[in-house]
This record gives sequence, structure tokens and C-alpha cells, in this order.
Amino acid sequence: MNTCLAIDIGGTKIAAALICNGVVSKRSQMKTPSSSKTSAMDEALKSMIQPLLSEADYIAVASTGIIDKGILKALNPDNLGGLNLYPLQQTVAHLSQLTVFVINDAQAAAWAEYQHTSNISNMAFITVSTGVGTGLVINNQLLIGSRGVAGHAGHMLADPNGPVCGCGRRGCVESIASGTAIANAGKDIWGDLCTGQFVFEKFLAGNLQAEKIIHQSARVIANLIADLTISLDLELVKLGGSVGLATGYLAIVRQYLSQMPMAHQSHVISAQCAADAGLVGVAQWANNQYSVETNS
Ligand SMILES: [Zn+2]
Repeated sequence: MNTCLAIDIGGTKIAAALICNGVVSKRSQMKTPSSSKTSAMDEALKSMIQPLLSEADYIAVASTGIIDKGILKALNPDNLGGLNLYPLQQTVAHLSQLTVFVINDAQAAAWAEYQHTSNISNMAFITVSTGVGTGLVINNQLLIGSRGVAGHAGHMLADPNGPVCGCGRRGCVESIASGTAIANAGKDIWGDLCTGQFVFEKFLAGNLQAEKIIHQSARVIANLIADLTISLDLELVKLGGSVGLATGYLAIVRQYLSQMPMAHQSHVISAQCAADAGLVGVAQWANNQYSVETNS
């Protein structure tokens, strides 16, 4: 059985672990460097990889951003301290001298969620958290795309008059539905210290202003699900992330979706893989690739 050294690079933290036959061990994590200098990321990766390297057969990396032929391209320049066009695959290969596979983190999480389904060929994983990330499995294959862009559905249009999104486009799903967007809407009412969690607590306590903000987010996500379903014939959507899994949120999304024409509707359930979905998913995906490479 091969052992994978899996790494998950997010906007706030980098996690690493050894994964063998789906079992996670020696998990560690550190804060994502806030510097846009490549040397800071080089050092961070080195410190995560070194202690686990001797036990690994290959390396699998899931990262935020667009992964185009192993190069990390920032869709939102504010993420990863402005790090853009970072040679992620090449850097990790140089540090480890092992075979390295790299995909986007939401794509990896979608692949992990897909492993927990049966008789499903087409599904989406949507995480509503700091941002809105999406991964697609179509015809039982993870959809990555020739430039690694596939699945960035959080940057589809929700409202042409909405706020400007971190990606530079106006009115993306993420700019209205994400935890950051919920917090920003709350700040207009409760001041600069307001967080998404605070708005959610207000909503659960019956506050009507908070209810409006949460419903606006859920309605946008329901419309995103409807758009993906009518274009890709999705059978299942798994909803994750701190907002997606918050008490009551899924029920509101389902309520809005149920008001749409039948062809736009798909079955929506909570994600099952929790925080390590990126690590586990990229290891599972890379294991298939590694097996193909070593057998050919
Ligand atoms: Zn956007």
C-alpha cells in the first residue's frame, strides 16, 4: 500500500498529513504566510514536508486558487497575501524529489465527498465559508479543466448590481452568499466588529434583519444549485463550509430550491467529510493517478 504525503493550502492555514488507505496520521498545521514573497511559501512548505518525507511515496497538494499545470494562480489577489503565479508543483517536487500531484482544494473536497456516494454519476460539492467554493464530479470523473478553472462556480453571476467580488467581477455568488459577505452586511447594522457567526446567532434568536441577510445568502446558493443542475443534470449536491453546515441553513436553501421548476431541482444534503476533506480528497485522487503512472 502506497503512502501519500497530503498537503492542503488554504487562505488561513496549511495542513499536512500522511494518508495510507484513507487513514490520516501525523497531521500538522501552520498559519498560511501572509507575505506575497515566494520565499515565505517555500519555507512554509519545506517545514511541513521535511518531517514526513521519509515515509512518503508521493505527494498530493490541494490548494486554494486556480492550479494551472502545477502553477498556482490567484483568482482573488487578496488571498495568500497576494501570492500569484507560484510554481507550486515544481517547488514541492524540488523539495521532495518525489512525484507531485496538485489540484484545487474544492475540487479535492468534491472528490472526497463523491467517495461517500453510491449510484451517483454527476454531483457538486459547494462550500459556503469565508468564500464560496465548488467542485464538480461529472460522469464519475473529477472535473478539473485544461486550465484548472473548472468548478469555480462561486464566481458565477448572482446580481449584476451586487457588490464587487474579490475576483474583480461585480455581483458574484461569493460577494453575496459567503460568510465574508454575511459579515459585511451585518457590519452595516451592528458595526465593524460584526462577524458572520454573530449574524447567524442573531438570526437563530429571531432577529428580522439577520434573517434577511441569511435568507439572501441561502437564496443565492439555491439559485446557484438550480443553475448547475439545469446545465449539468446534477443528481446530488453536497453543501459544506461553516455557513453551509450552520444550523438551519440547509433547510432554507432547500425551501428556495423547492420553489423552482422540477428540472432545476436536485437532492441537497450536508457534506460528510468535515475539515480534512481537502487532504483526504487530494490523496484519493492522486492515488489513482500514481497507480496509473507506476503501472504504465
Ligand atoms: Zn468573483
